[in-house]
Amino acid sequence: MEEPVINLEECTGCSNCVEDCPTDVFDMFSDHKAHVVEPDSCIDCHICEEVCPTNAVHLVAA
Ligand code: SF4
Ligand code: SF4
Repeated sequence: MEEPVINLEECTGCSNCVEDCPTDVFDMFSDHKAHVVEPDSCIDCHICEEVCPTNAVHLVAA
């Protein structure tokens, strides 16, 4: 299993990952960046990596 990790220094807050993750793993916080809120819901589809314009999201071994 893998789970996503967001590099907050590279996140621009575009919200692509929040909108496109099929299992709602991410949410936007008041810092205007995406955060991982439900890591156990990740199904390893890699969509978040594909839609992030700054390569801020990476799946890592859980
Ligand atoms: S790999 Fe898929 S399920 Fe997992 S966080 Fe990314 S978009 Fe969501
Ligand atoms: S897709 Fe990338 S840049 Fe956009 S909110 Fe998610 S982590 Fe941040």
